[in-house]
Amino acid sequence: MIHCSQTTASLLQTVHFESEVKNITVHDLNVEYTIGSEFKFTFIDANHCPGAVIVVYSNSKTSKTYKDVHCGDMRSSPSVIHNIKSFLGDNKVNRVYLDSTYGIEGRSLVMKQEESVEMAYSIVKDELNRNPKSLILLTCYNIGKEKLLKRISSLSPVYVNPRKKSMLECIENDNVIECVTDDVGGNIHVVPMNVGATMHPYYVPNYRGCVDYAESTGKRWDRIVCVVGTGWAEVGGWNEKNKVCEGRVPREMVDGGKGVMKRAKDEDDTVSIEVRLVPYSEHSSYAELCEFLKALKPIKVLPTVFKDEGERRRMEKDFCRFCDRKEVGREFVKKMFGVGGGEKGGEEEVIELNDDDDDNDNNNNNNKDDENLTAMMEMGFERNASIAALRKRKNVGDAVHELLSGKEEGVKESSKPEKKKLSPGKMINDFFKPKIKKTKKS
Ligand SMILES: [Zn+2]
Repeated sequence: MIHCSQTTASLLQTVHFESEVKNITVHDLNVEYTIGSEFKFTFIDANHCPGAVIVVYSNSKTSKTYKDVHCGDMRSSPSVIHNIKSFLGDNKVNRVYLDSTYGIEGRSLVMKQEESVEMAYSIVKDELNRNPKSLILLTCYNIGKEKLLKRISSLSPVYVNPRKKSMLECIENDNVIECVTDDVGGNIHVVPMNVGATMHPYYVPNYRGCVDYAESTGKRWDRIVCVVGTGWAEVGGWNEKNKVCEGRVPREMVDGGKGVMKRAKDEDDTVSIEVRLVPYSEHSSYAELCEFLKALKPIKVLPTVFKDEGERRRMEKDFCRFCDRKEVGREFVKKMFGVGGGEKGGEEEVIELNDDDDDNDNNNNNNKDDENLTAMMEMGFERNASIAALRKRKNVGDAVHELLSGKEEGVKESSKPEKKKLSPGKMINDFFKPKIKKTKKS
């Protein structure tokens, strides 16, 4: 069963054909749906490729006061944040599954999307003003970069192939289809990514791809300019240095000649090709991710895009600073003792830590201390403060309480409710365990 937006459903049916895709349930955006009697969810536009949604959901059986946010792939913006907040109501955010494509500071994309769009627009505008016989190639994946396409189409209608056109027709509430043409005679053409460049493992302009495409149009061009929108354009070193690449090829190659590349006799015999990287992405920049988390103040951030476990942990630790520290601790204490649970608390399950008088040996206790320390650091407490608090207080609950209150006293004995035993490590794992792992980028 696939639950998705109308645009995604149309795309699935167009690309994969209706007969092959069964059990699709379409949901409107910004409307709360319920599955069963407990699970509630709302789809919110993810400002990513058409059809992509952020899911805000809750299970009223397990939590009456928290909602989780699964970002899928998204580009955060003030309106995305506003939309999510308006569906949270009085609920706080428990977990955020974060599109962490650019989740490492300083590694990539910095430019805002509107700036990227304007940059690409100016490049094309200047080029066509200087040379009306230039062929402009815009590289796109099957879907995505529609904002770029729309802006540039104000200069001249943009040619897209029939497959791409049928996909653009699927997009709901968007006039992008009016910006494109199937007349191949115009200056601006959308081409697949690999026609202009290969990006992995590193960026290489594809002059041959540009030439072959120009030749296929059957028109005479003086110049070819290929604009490659990518989030990795600003990556230090290689991509930054090579963001504008120029080459020349003999005219006969572009005008239908099948010959191999050979040295041109003079400039008139050649066609110049320029391949340019423009920093454009449908994923949030690092700064946007920080703004997003600052606004939502979740209890836990779970990055969903990372190349290995080390990178995942690095991001999780970094984003920890945006978590609602008070709420993290309160939830933790509430789970353990059933106290300090805030306004709506009281009926939650009461859990108590194992005490030292259990028959654990010393070795086990050491492991337990490590787990406790890790857990406290995950909650956003500093390592040194956590160690100090743990040393002073016998159990982790008292230590957390001390750090939260900033006072010297532990939890009062009289507030201790009935005991139910669960080891802290296991409890933390159940409470915070990431459920979704994704390594592919779109
Ligand atoms: Zn995607």
